[in-house]
Amino acid sequence: MKELLPFLRLYKRCLPQMALGVLLTFIALLAAVSLLAISGWFLSASALAGLTLMTAKTFNFFTPGAGVRGSSITRTAARYFERVVNHDATFKLLTHIRVSCYKKLEPLTLVVLQNYRQGDLFNRFVTDTDTLDHLYLRLISPFITTALGCLSVVIFVQFFSGMLALIMILFFLAGIVIIPAVVYRFGHHPGEQISDQIKQLRTSIIDYISGYTDLVINGAEPAFKALITDNEKKLYQYEEHMAFLSGISSAAITILSGLTLLAMIGISSVLVSSGIMPGPVAAMLILITIGMSEAIIPLPQAMQVLGKIKRSAMRINAVLQQKANITFVKEPVKTNTISSDAADIDITHLSYRYPGTTGFILNDLNLHLLPGEKVAITGHTGCGKSTLLNLLTRADNPESGQININQQPVDTFTENVLRQTMAVMPQRIHIFNGTLRDNLLLANSHANDEQLIALLTQLNLHYLCKNGKSDLNTRIGTTGRVLSGGETRRIGIARVLLQDAPIVLLDEPSEGLDSLTEEKVLKAIINFCSNRTLLVLTHKPAILQYMDKIYPWEYLQPE
Ligand code: ATP
Ligand code: MG
Repeated sequence: MKELLPFLRLYKRCLPQMALGVLLTFIALLAAVSLLAISGWFLSASALAGLTLMTAKTFNFFTPGAGVRGSSITRTAARYFERVVNHDATFKLLTHIRVSCYKKLEPLTLVVLQNYRQGDLFNRFVTDTDTLDHLYLRLISPFITTALGCLSVVIFVQFFSGMLALIMILFFLAGIVIIPAVVYRFGHHPGEQISDQIKQLRTSIIDYISGYTDLVINGAEPAFKALITDNEKKLYQYEEHMAFLSGISSAAITILSGLTLLAMIGISSVLVSSGIMPGPVAAMLILITIGMSEAIIPLPQAMQVLGKIKRSAMRINAVLQQKANITFVKEPVKTNTISSDAADIDITHLSYRYPGTTGFILNDLNLHLLPGEKVAITGHTGCGKSTLLNLLTRADNPESGQININQQPVDTFTENVLRQTMAVMPQRIHIFNGTLRDNLLLANSHANDEQLIALLTQLNLHYLCKNGKSDLNTRIGTTGRVLSGGETRRIGIARVLLQDAPIVLLDEPSEGLDSLTEEKVLKAIINFCSNRTLLVLTHKPAILQYMDKIYPWEYLQPE
C-alpha cells in the first residue's frame, strides 16, 4: 500500500471536509436504519395494540410516528449534504493531486518526458488521477461509515439479546473484513492488469490513428489492427474474471445476509414465544439487519477497485519520482540582464550523453561565438547538432563543461531572461491547432496584422494571406489546413523573426525548401540577424555563403 502514501498525504489538506463527509454519511446510514427499525416496531406494535380496544385506546401513535418522520427527513437531508460535501472534497482532492503532479512534471526536462509515449503520459495524468478519486469515495468513506454503523448497531442490539448481537457481529465481520479481503486477494491482480491493458489499448489506438498513413503505406495496418484487437481481447478476459468475482462476491454476501436474517428470525421467534423479547422488538431487530445489509452488500465489490487504484498510483509515482535535473534560478544574477546588443556564446569542454545510454554524443566540445558573429556548424546526420541546441536552450544539463552567454554561465539565468536572450527555431516545429495569427503571435503577442503579413510575404508565404488580414484567421494544425513541411519550417522561422533577441539559434532552417524559396528565406534571416549573434546547425550548403565562420562537427571536438 506504500504506493498510496504520497496521495494519502495530500488528503491531509481536505481532512476537515472529509471528516464532515464521513460524519454525514454515517448520520444518513443511521437514519436509514432507524427508519426501518422504528417502522418495524411501530407497525407490529400498533398491530398488536389493535387486538383489544383497551390497548388500542392507550397506544401512543404520535411518538413513533414522529420518529419515522424525523428519521426520514434526517436521512434525506443527510444524504443530500453528504453528496455535496463528499463530491466537493473529491474535486478538491483531485485538484490537489493534479496540481502537485503538474508541479513535479513541469521541471522535468524534455529529455526525461520524451521517454513516455504521448498517449501514456496523457493516460497517467487524466485516467490515472481520475481513478484515484475512487480511493476516498468508494473505499475509505464507505468502509469507515459502515464500520461505525455496525458498531453502533451491535451496541444497540446487545441491550436486547447478546445472542442476536453475536450473530450480527459475525455477519458484519464477514461483510466488512473477510469477503472484501478474499475479493482483494483474487481481484487485485486482474484489477492491475485491467488498468495496464486500458493504458496499452489507449496508446496503441493513439499510435494507430496518428501513424495511420505510414501503416497503410507500409502494408502494416492489418498487423497493427490485429495487435489492437489482441490487446482488447486480453482486456475483456480480465474484465470477465472481475465480473465473475463480482458475481461470486455479491452472491456470497447476499446469501450470507439471507442466512443471517433467517438466524435472526429463528432466534427472535424463540425469544418472543418464550416471552423474553416483545414481538415488536424482534421485528425491529430484523429490520435493522436488513438495513445494515444494504450498506454492507456493495463493500466487497468496491474492494475490486483497489488493485486498479494501486496501479494508477504506481504509474503516477513513477513519473513523479523522476528527478528534475533542470532548475532555473528564481532571482537573476545582477549582470544577467537582457542586452539588446549581440551577445557572445562561449562553450568549453562540453560533454553529454542521453540518460540511460553509455556513448557520449558531445565529447569535449569547444566553440566560441563573438558578439554579432554568424557561425554555422555542419555535420552528418545524427552527429549531435540538435543535442547541442538542447543544451544551449537548457532542455537538459551537460554532463561536464560550461556554456556561457556574455561571460555568465547559462544556469545563472532565470528562465525568462534566458528565453528572451535567445530566439530559437528547433528542428521539429509544432503547429498549434488554431489560426495562422495565433501560431505567429505566440512568439510575440504585440505584433500587428500588418507586420505578420509583411513577414509572411518576406518568407514567400504571401499566398497564405492573399486576401489580407482575414486570411490570418485561417485555421491551421490538425483540424485546419495542414501545412506542408516547407511551410511549417517557414512558420518556425517567422516565429524567430518576430522576437527581439540578441542571439538566434536555428536548427536546419532551410530543410524542405526549394532553392528559390531557400534563397529568399535565408536573405530574410541574414537581414534580421545583421546585428545579432547567429548560430546555424545545418547540413545544407546554401546558407554557408552568408556565414563568418563554418565549423565542421569534427573540428569542434577533436579526439
Ligand atoms: P540530424 O542532422 O539528423 O538532425 P543531429 O546531428 O541533429 O541529426 P541529434 O538529433 O542531436 O542529431 O542526435 C544525436 C544522436 O543522439 C542520434 O544518434 C540520436 O539517435 C541520439 N538521440 C537523440 N535523442 C535521444 C534520446 N532521447 N535518447 C537517446 N539517444 C538520443
Ligand atoms: Mg538535428
